[in-house]
Amino acid sequence: MPGRIVILPDDLTNKIAAGEVIERPASIVKELLENALDAGATDIEIELRHGGCESIRVTDNGAGIGPEDAVLAFSRFATSKIYHFDDIYKVRSFGFRGEALPSIASIAHVEMVTKQPGALAGVRVAAEAGNIKEISEAGCPVGTSVFVTNIFGPVPVRRKFLKSEQTEQGHCLDVVSRLALSHPAVSLKVAANGRQILNIPATNAPDQRLGLVLGTDFLDQMISLAGKRDGLTLRGFASLPSLTRANTKHIYPFVNKRFIRDHLINHAVMTAYRNLVPTKRYPAVVLLLDLPPHEVDVNVHPAKMEVRFRDPRAVYETIVECLAGALSGVPSQPAMQAAESLPRTPHTFPLSQYHSRVEEALKRYTISSEVPQTNADTAWYVRESYPAKNYHTAQAEEVAATMSDIVLSEYKYIGQVMDTYLIFASADRLIMVDQHAAHERLIFENLKNKSHSHIASQRLLMPEVISLPPRDYSFLMDCLPLLHDCGFEVEPFGLNTVVVKSLPSLFAKLPPQSMINDFLAEFVEREGASLDEKKDKIYAFLACKAAIKANHKLSPLEVAALVKDLDAIPNIASCPHGRPVFLAHTLWDLEKMFKRR
Ligand code: ADP
Ligand code: MG
Repeated sequence: MPGRIVILPDDLTNKIAAGEVIERPASIVKELLENALDAGATDIEIELRHGGCESIRVTDNGAGIGPEDAVLAFSRFATSKIYHFDDIYKVRSFGFRGEALPSIASIAHVEMVTKQPGALAGVRVAAEAGNIKEISEAGCPVGTSVFVTNIFGPVPVRRKFLKSEQTEQGHCLDVVSRLALSHPAVSLKVAANGRQILNIPATNAPDQRLGLVLGTDFLDQMISLAGKRDGLTLRGFASLPSLTRANTKHIYPFVNKRFIRDHLINHAVMTAYRNLVPTKRYPAVVLLLDLPPHEVDVNVHPAKMEVRFRDPRAVYETIVECLAGALSGVPSQPAMQAAESLPRTPHTFPLSQYHSRVEEALKRYTISSEVPQTNADTAWYVRESYPAKNYHTAQAEEVAATMSDIVLSEYKYIGQVMDTYLIFASADRLIMVDQHAAHERLIFENLKNKSHSHIASQRLLMPEVISLPPRDYSFLMDCLPLLHDCGFEVEPFGLNTVVVKSLPSLFAKLPPQSMINDFLAEFVEREGASLDEKKDKIYAFLACKAAIKANHKLSPLEVAALVKDLDAIPNIASCPHGRPVFLAHTLWDLEKMFKRR
């Protein structure tokens, strides 16, 4: 039986990182779901109307609340989860501040129906704009159902900050998917506007839920990892280096089942993947870290999305060792006992390889007020690099100013160096062109010029069906018209799947699945931009994908074609991301550099 609800005394509430802000429907879903999980529910149903903007209902079969406590639950700082400040370092529950229900009730109408096991009847409490409106006896099953309506009704200005219903629904599904992943034994169902859109049965294998956050293309390319060190246990899944994403959003760390964002953990993951994935590509990793509650402070962030580890080094090292071990086919190291389920094998991963990276990461992680010490080494670096950097910027600016009058075809093509830079010269000028940036700019301009009509698209011989994480699916639905304008033909194809029928002609050769995934990685959370800004970003994205890469040999004929196209377009001194396309040195510059002047 859960403990009674009490209102925390002032001296305690002053110490907790309070200030829960209900930003959007997904914040409500998160709080209600966490309450249901804290109450030991094994079966949870979520109903959303209009992406959760109109109403949200979360029904659980958890421990319920007694009739005397049901009203108290709506008071600020009323909680049954801690009684003393130190309890924060003992609890394993999501909640402990007693803020969620009153915060939700202050911006919406909330009706809660709840019953404890063995009670004769349940109780119904309704609250709105911070006031209790109704308390009555209710016939209901054991558990709790919270129905939230008139969301942001009392604060209409907040409604203006909401995005489209699809986008808000995407955020809600994101919350559900993450909690589903860290609670495999709990069954979850989500209905949207009366139609079931997710049915996640209980399982004892967390890997069965990986597809919820990662999409299904990863599933057959994940390796599992497990390790233990002192009180810390790590289980997880990591993508083979052959499959990468465009950003770190597919690194999912859970600390005691709580999804968090953490630089240190991302850093540890990238250290383990160092030299295995190309630069600017990132793996998909799910890490389920479990450590004694006193080893981790969850009271640092109102939404509890950040935590602080008492021993960050141990966490960092455990992740790197475990992950690097798994990636090199070595499941365990002597510094870590193998988890029970894994065979013991000798240690081969050299710790020394990443010690300096640990130091570097820890420095950044501990946001201390200490001024970093300048030792002789860094002073040397600063002194050497400063003029060079300045020089480079000055050059880029000068080039941007004068480049529009350069006609490349009037220069002699000297050759390609490092398979990346094209060198041109005239009697008094040396020009270096970054082949990727140049081609990218060219495609970008072409796409922009064509944007009044649709960009040419090419039908795929075999339409490709792609299954997406529910959150990504919702976002993609929102982008369909925009995608269509950019030459993609993508249609919904049943539960969280889409069918890709055409791609912009530029990419007919690229795999549709990776195109769509990279597109999502780039755009899913980029909200708020105007349609034109979004379009420009999509063009830049497409241009970058389609452009000749660095480290790619070009024949003189290809260079000639590129030069011709570049000359046809004015104003191409920088790539769509703002990097310079050209660097130019005049004879004067060269003579200065060689100290002839
Ligand atoms: P917190 O979770 O931080 O304690 P909340 O405002 O979310 O604060 O909830 C207040 C209290 O109401 C909880 O401590 C718990 O006792 C009770 N409660 C809320 N939701 C549920 C639920 N679904 N099942 C059982 N008890 C609940
Ligand atoms: Mg709570």
